[in-house]
Amino acid sequence: MATIQAFGGASADRLQQEMVRLAALEELDLLETPRDEGFERLVRLIKEIFAVEIGIVSLIDAHRQWYKASSGMAVDEVPRQDTFCRFVLDHETPIIVQDATKDPRFAQNSAVTGEAHIRFYAGVPLITRQGHIIGTVCAIDRSPRSFDERDLSILEQLAGAAMDRIELIQHAATDSLTGALTRRAFNEEADRLITLATRHRHDLSCLVLDIDHFKRVNDTFGHACGDQVLQRVASACQAEIRRGDPFGRLGGEEFAILLPNVDSDAALAAAQRLRAAISSQSIVTNNTPINVTASIGVSSLSAAGENIETLLAQADAAMYKAKQTGRNRCIAWPTLEVDGSTSRRRVLKAGSIIFDNRRSMIDCTIKTLGAEGAGLTVSNSVDIPAEFILMIKEDAFETNCRVIARDRQHLELSFSRIA
Ligand code: GH3
Ligand code: MG
Ligand code: MG
Repeated sequence: MATIQAFGGASADRLQQEMVRLAALEELDLLETPRDEGFERLVRLIKEIFAVEIGIVSLIDAHRQWYKASSGMAVDEVPRQDTFCRFVLDHETPIIVQDATKDPRFAQNSAVTGEAHIRFYAGVPLITRQGHIIGTVCAIDRSPRSFDERDLSILEQLAGAAMDRIELIQHAATDSLTGALTRRAFNEEADRLITLATRHRHDLSCLVLDIDHFKRVNDTFGHACGDQVLQRVASACQAEIRRGDPFGRLGGEEFAILLPNVDSDAALAAAQRLRAAISSQSIVTNNTPINVTASIGVSSLSAAGENIETLLAQADAAMYKAKQTGRNRCIAWPTLEVDGSTSRRRVLKAGSIIFDNRRSMIDCTIKTLGAEGAGLTVSNSVDIPAEFILMIKEDAFETNCRVIARDRQHLELSFSRIA
């Protein structure tokens, strides 16, 4: 198991810089967004122009490098400390490695010594207009090769094109595959409706729906069938809700629905109808019937008055609880098992998971945070014990936690005591 020193000994400046960088990444709200043909084209271009096996456009959060698009790679994310790209981020400069076996920084990297057999790497930073490095654009090959100034200039131009595309899609209202609102458009519409509901003291609820074991659908039937399943699930959702209720695609196989004038009980009933509609339909692609189920989390506006970030965070936590308790089910927030009744908000913060008498530390990215609990992502949750200390350096925060739900890369926590 990797034992990582997250920002161990890092200067206050470096910590502050990383905080601002993560804030810039959060503002763009691109992590885990669906596949986009524009970025796919860019990574194909990288492969063709440089005649390399792998092209990547990536985003780097607190604990991992996530591939917005990649060609030639089997995975869609890598722990941050294992990547070549973290050098681009740390040194804020392009990095070119003609032969990794001859470079002391990388010769022992498992991507070089292991099956991936990486030899050549060229990576340039993906920089926002405000100058924050949010990720990288890279060309990678399994044989050593040279890379001259002209090549570097082309790769930098491609990174510029990737950034242009990022800015462009900030304005997209709908997702091309399913017709659902994009995450940003959904949030904007939701915030408008929440303001109205709060002002007029109307009920309002939010559902977060995640397809169960969707990876298996892709692995068994192929990505194209997976896409058709996504379309059919989206259609089933839209058929069940009222016209005008905002329906958004939050990520690959995760959707959100806002239900104005619907209280918690009615929202849970609506979620059950949706769940039943999805599980009862047989989706026929290539003459093969595919059946899928979904787990749904429900949250509702309380007298405290909330924003969409809070509602989504709470519905998300409830959805993870539904996954934990067997999938194909609906759970409403707050439930005793999920957390207390204090609210959560969406954040993007660097955290450290500390256990084994403080001998082990694992980087994580905190996604939701409240006074009594948090939701976070890690590269692999397998080695993480049921109880540990969570540290958020930027907030000088440390607390004992208990895991209340987990999947491969996500943990839902209840804080046992705030230090
Ligand atoms: P769980 O029940 O815990 O939710 O398991 P899961 O397999 O659904 O979850 P996981 O997050 O492991 O896998 C989600 C998969 O969805 C992985 C990703 O490749 C796939 N995916 C994301 N976006 C798209 C897309 O646009 N099309 C297709 N076909 N697959 C996608
Ligand atoms: Mg899923
Ligand atoms: Mg998911």
